[in-house]
Amino acid sequence: MGLFSFLKSKFAKKKEEAPAEKAALDTYSKGMEKSRKNFASKLDELSKRYAKVNEEYFEELEQILIESDVGVELSLRLIEETLDEATKNKISEPKAINELLVDKMFVGYATSGESIQNELHFAPEGPTVLLVCGVNGVGKTTTIAKLAYRYIRQGKKVLLVAGDTFRAGAVEQLKIWADRLGCPIVTGKPESDPASVAFEGAAYANQHGVDLAIVDTAGRQQTKSNLMQELSKISRVLSKEIPGAPHETFLVLDGTTGQNGVLQASSFKEACPLTGIVVTKMDGTSKGGIILSIRDTLGIPVRFIGLGEKMEDLQEFDLDKYLYGLLLGEKSDE
Ligand code: GDP
Ligand code: GDP
Ligand code: MG
Repeated sequence: MGLFSFLKSKFAKKKEEAPAEKAALDTYSKGMEKSRKNFASKLDELSKRYAKVNEEYFEELEQILIESDVGVELSLRLIEETLDEATKNKISEPKAINELLVDKMFVGYATSGESIQNELHFAPEGPTVLLVCGVNGVGKTTTIAKLAYRYIRQGKKVLLVAGDTFRAGAVEQLKIWADRLGCPIVTGKPESDPASVAFEGAAYANQHGVDLAIVDTAGRQQTKSNLMQELSKISRVLSKEIPGAPHETFLVLDGTTGQNGVLQASSFKEACPLTGIVVTKMDGTSKGGIILSIRDTLGIPVRFIGLGEKMEDLQEFDLDKYLYGLLLGEKSDE
C-alpha cells in the first residue's frame, strides 16, 4: 500500500477517534495549510500537465521540493531514488510517480533515526530539567510557556527558570507566563550570570518537589566559543545540583527562516549536546519541507512543532500527521 492510501485510511475515521487525537490532527491540518497549498497543489498541478513522465517532469518535481525547503541535497537524493524505482518497475504515470516520491520522503525520515519517543523523557526520580536554547525571536519563551501548559495539564509540577538575563524584558515576559499558567518561577537580577539563576532554579526544584524545570536562555548571536562556554557552564551547574541534568536540551528553530535555521543549528549542535529540536511558526511558512531537511542535515529528531499561537498549537511531532497536513489536509475526508 502506498503512503497516500495509508494516510487516507489511517485518518479516515478520525471523526470517531479519541477527541484529543482528532484535535491534534486538526491542528496539523490547519497549521500546515500554507505549506499544503505550496506543495500538494503544485504536485497535483504538475501531474495534470503531463500524460507520461520524462526528464523534464523530474526536473520540475525537484524544483517543487527545493521550493518547499526540503534542501538541495535531499531533494536530489529523493528524485534519484524515485527515478530508480520508477525505471525498475516501469512506472511512468505522473500520479504514481508523485506517490513514489512521497513514499521516499516518508521512508527517508522514518529510517534516519531510531524509533523516537517525542514526549519529554522524564528522569526516573527527582526533577527533570529541560534546557531551551536558540537565537532571538525564534519562539523560545513562547514554546516554554506552551510546554509548561502541556505538562501542567498532564499533572506535573512545572517550574520556569528565567535564564535569559541578557535581553531587557525577557525575565518579565516569562514572569507573565508563569502568572498565567499559575506555576512558580525563579528569576535572577538583570544581567546577572545565567548560571547563577540556573543554580537557584535547580535548588528550588530540589526543595519543592518539582517534576519539570524548564530553563530559558539568552538568544543573542554570539561567537561560538562564548555560546559554548555559557551553555556548558549552565549545564555544569545544573548537573551539580541535579544528577543527569539537563536531561533534555532543545534547540528552537523558526520554521520561516528555512535553510538559515539549519545553519544556526550547526553551531548550537557544536556548543552543546542537543536531544531535540522544536520547529516553530510552521503556520507562517509555505515551506513545510524544512522539517525533512532539518532531520536529514542535523540528524537530531524534531520533537515538537509550533503550528500557531495558541497553547494547544504546540504539538508533539508525528510524521504521519505532518505528512497528512502537508499532502491531504481536510480535503481527504469528503
Ligand atoms: P524568543 O526570543 O526566542 O524567546 O521568542 P518569543 O517566544 O518571544 O517569540 C517570538 C514571537 O514568535 C512571538 O510573537 C510569538 O508569539 C511567536 N511565535 C512563537 N511560536 C509560534 C508559532 O508556532 N506560530 C506563530 N504564528 N507564532 C509563534
Ligand atoms: P486554560 O484557561 O487553563 O485552559 O488555559 P488557556 O489556554 O486559556 O491559557 C492560559 C492563559 O494563557 C490564559 O490566561 C490565556 O489568556 C493565555 N494564553 C493562551 N494562549 C495564549 C497565546 O497564544 N498568547 C498569549 N499572549 N496568551 C495566551
Ligand atoms: Mg525569549
